[in-house]
Amino acid sequence: MKITYFISLEKRVQQIISVRLVIEEITDPQVQITLPNWTPGSYKIRDYSGRIRSISFRTQTGTILKAAKLDKSSWKVTRDETGTVEVVYEIYASELTPRTSHADATHALLNPSGLLFYVEGYKEQTSEIELSIPDGWHITTGLEKIDGNRFRATNYDILADTPFEIGTQQVFTFRVDGREHEISIYGNPQMDLGTFVADVEKIANAASSMMKGIPCKRYCFIFDFSDTRGGGLEHLNSTVIIMDRLMPLSQKSYRAMLSTVAHEYFHMWNVKRIRPVELGPFNYKVENYTNMLWFAEGITDYYANKLLLRAGIVDRSGFFEYMARHINTYFDRPGRKRQSLYESSFDSWIKQYQPTADTLNSSVSYYLGGMMLGFALDLKIVTTTLGQKSLDDLIRLLFEKYRKDGKGYTEKDLLGGLKEITGQDLTAFIDSYVKGIEEIPFESLMVGAGLELTVKQLEEGWSGIILKREGATTKVVSVVEGSSAWDADLIAEDEILAVNGIRISEKMISSEDRWYEGKLDRFARLFPQSASITFFRRSELMTTTYVPKNFGRDVSIKESKDQEARVRKMLEKLLAG
Ligand SMILES: [Zn+2]
Repeated sequence: MKITYFISLEKRVQQIISVRLVIEEITDPQVQITLPNWTPGSYKIRDYSGRIRSISFRTQTGTILKAAKLDKSSWKVTRDETGTVEVVYEIYASELTPRTSHADATHALLNPSGLLFYVEGYKEQTSEIELSIPDGWHITTGLEKIDGNRFRATNYDILADTPFEIGTQQVFTFRVDGREHEISIYGNPQMDLGTFVADVEKIANAASSMMKGIPCKRYCFIFDFSDTRGGGLEHLNSTVIIMDRLMPLSQKSYRAMLSTVAHEYFHMWNVKRIRPVELGPFNYKVENYTNMLWFAEGITDYYANKLLLRAGIVDRSGFFEYMARHINTYFDRPGRKRQSLYESSFDSWIKQYQPTADTLNSSVSYYLGGMMLGFALDLKIVTTTLGQKSLDDLIRLLFEKYRKDGKGYTEKDLLGGLKEITGQDLTAFIDSYVKGIEEIPFESLMVGAGLELTVKQLEEGWSGIILKREGATTKVVSVVEGSSAWDADLIAEDEILAVNGIRISEKMISSEDRWYEGKLDRFARLFPQSASITFFRRSELMTTTYVPKNFGRDVSIKESKDQEARVRKMLEKLLAG
């Protein structure tokens, strides 16, 4: 069988991508084609077939073939004696996210998992992709180039995992470990691109020196800047990162942007190669469940921070300040007492990507919780081995395993790896903090590695209310269980009008003071005494009394003075590798 995708951007201005899928040399009487319902890396059913605006099945000479629709995303086509089937279809591509395709007059971002059908039973088949694009436009992709605008994918999994950015983007290149890295920048970000590219290169070098080389021939960063922050998505030898073009204007959000870069880049190892056994080969039709996203995502988040340190982008105090802030956030989230990281990973399909106002009370994020576990596990390994080993060694060991057998890891492999590195059985550790919901003993873990965790109770109150401004109105987003706002019986969607008879304003709820960033919320600071709150609930005027009872807490981490050489070695191992 020969599979070729011809993609045209002729109708890009109307946000339409046209595809002609040509399947030749068919020996079976029928072929079944399917468009994936989700994209690996983003664990939610997204029903991409809903974006198909027209589809027809024909021979190469244009004779219409018989086709039956089997389910929301699959068709069965009966071939004629020529043995060739052409599927001609159009996709509406209006969403600029790392998981979708987007096209307009200025560019196109193609995400093949929601754009290109696979042929059932032939996912292992090589295919070719030919793009018809406007003159002068450039293609950034990690896919192997045949010539001109023609590319080859060794199998469908690789095709689905390799996005394209096409347009007049700015392109930069650098080499790490002798491998070319291409950076594509679209969307006019407000920053000095020279500095940005240099920072990305520093991150790539830090990751390469930890992992002892780059496991692909070429790597592409696709950055699309827009007016909202869309996040990133990892791929085999590339990544798509959607950021707000104004983010670089603040030091803090520029750092958050670089943290996303480091996160997606580290995925080249953790999840794309060191992968849970359940994640590949993929079943694109249904949910693919795993209990290991805390490792695949959370540990990656921990390394994003560690790589920024090793790249010299943040210093040691910056690293500890970041970890402390996230410990604070983690402890402020009641949901960590209701759901384990294990369950959070498994339920990603119904929780992480589909949050409700109750999410922070009833679930734990495998990103944040996994990052906490990464730090805890790193501390555990360096203290157990007296600074001989760190979490880096486990990552490298799992990567070696993958290089040998190409297979995913199981929970047993993870525990086996930990035992090999530390000489100890850490099953109880994983049982308590990953499968269970026991409190991570940060204080004692840190002491052993020469760190001090200080928890300061603040005198100012903490309301437990999360508010948002919608135009001129102020609405409740969430209420933390057990907080003062919870006791005041406020619920999500309540529209707050006034506190103590004074109209609530933008100034009062500045997002700079969001509680979950580890800072006191301004609401509690403005109203330290009991207050009467007037609000609308489904357009009915109501009043409640707010009584402050909770106090803010500030967690900080610092290196202990007078460290013995023995302890200093452990900390150096953890930070520098
Ligand atoms: Zn990730």
